[in-house]
Amino acid sequence: MTSSLLADVSDALLRRREPITDEQAYALADLATVPPGDGDPMPALLDLAHRVRLAWCGEEVSLESILSTKTGGCPEDCAFCSQSAAFSTPVKPQPYLTRDEVVAAASDAQAGGATEFCLVLAIKGPDAKAMTHILEAAAAVQCETDLEVAVSAGLLTRDQAETIAAAGVVRYNHNLEAAASFFPTICSTHTWRERWDTCTFVKDAGMQVCSGGILGMGETPRQRAELALALRQLEPAEVPVNFLNPRPGTPLQRAAVLEPRIALHGVALFRLILPFAMLRYAGGREVVLGDLQAAGILGGANGLIVGNYLTTLGRPTSDDLSMLRDLRVPVKALTGLL
Ligand code: SF4
Repeated sequence: MTSSLLADVSDALLRRREPITDEQAYALADLATVPPGDGDPMPALLDLAHRVRLAWCGEEVSLESILSTKTGGCPEDCAFCSQSAAFSTPVKPQPYLTRDEVVAAASDAQAGGATEFCLVLAIKGPDAKAMTHILEAAAAVQCETDLEVAVSAGLLTRDQAETIAAAGVVRYNHNLEAAASFFPTICSTHTWRERWDTCTFVKDAGMQVCSGGILGMGETPRQRAELALALRQLEPAEVPVNFLNPRPGTPLQRAAVLEPRIALHGVALFRLILPFAMLRYAGGREVVLGDLQAAGILGGANGLIVGNYLTTLGRPTSDDLSMLRDLRVPVKALTGLL
């Protein structure tokens, strides 16, 4: 059963170069519940995901650095987020970073091998002050570095998306975060539909869509497939795959961390549903996967967030570079530093 499913998925993605069907996607999701042991589908699933990644995206792995330029105090109540003002968390609101602070962080990221730099603001969506900050910070990074600039600043109107695109921002991040059927259990202050609409405005404005989600918030494997199938309709250039790292003070603070094999199943599932997208390992990989992070790079992922995340520490960039060297995976780089 499993081998015929994987053979059919392989035939679609590698021979016919066609997307898999929704039915196949949900059947792949169901493999998460097969126990390890004889007949374990995981090795074959990860191997197929890796071959699909190579065939559709090539060998290179891309590194991106993110910078929170406006931290904490967000009025929304996303249950996983320590930046929400609705919860009592150790993350305290910070003022906007200055131009010099943004440029210094971008320069460090470039020196460390990043090719892209994402400016992140913890807000529901930009007001006039936030729009000014975004446009000035993006211009500063473009002026002072060779980095491609991406922005993540919450829900946008169509006009705001067009203004940010006109400023030369190549990509806008706005995660759907979870399947539509699960989203109401993790957020009550805005809707999945609002997130979806922002992504469509970004696409219509000519920016690349960067949109993904967080695995391990209590959703089922089938809801992970539902999320990936929805993302596929947006044709995202990039899909961040985060794993829940339960944060103190948030409603999910006592959630169980995903088992590593289930996390790897999620990476492979996303790759097989989204064969064309840059699948970027993002927050939580150190906590969930530990020493198994390399398995995700050999199981469908082809991008990494390096350095620290928005409110949590990542591992040193040198550890990631060392892992990629050990795997003999070429790193997409502008600078030749690697
Ligand atoms: S909108 Fe973003 S910053 Fe605000 S609570 Fe939700 S995830 Fe956190």
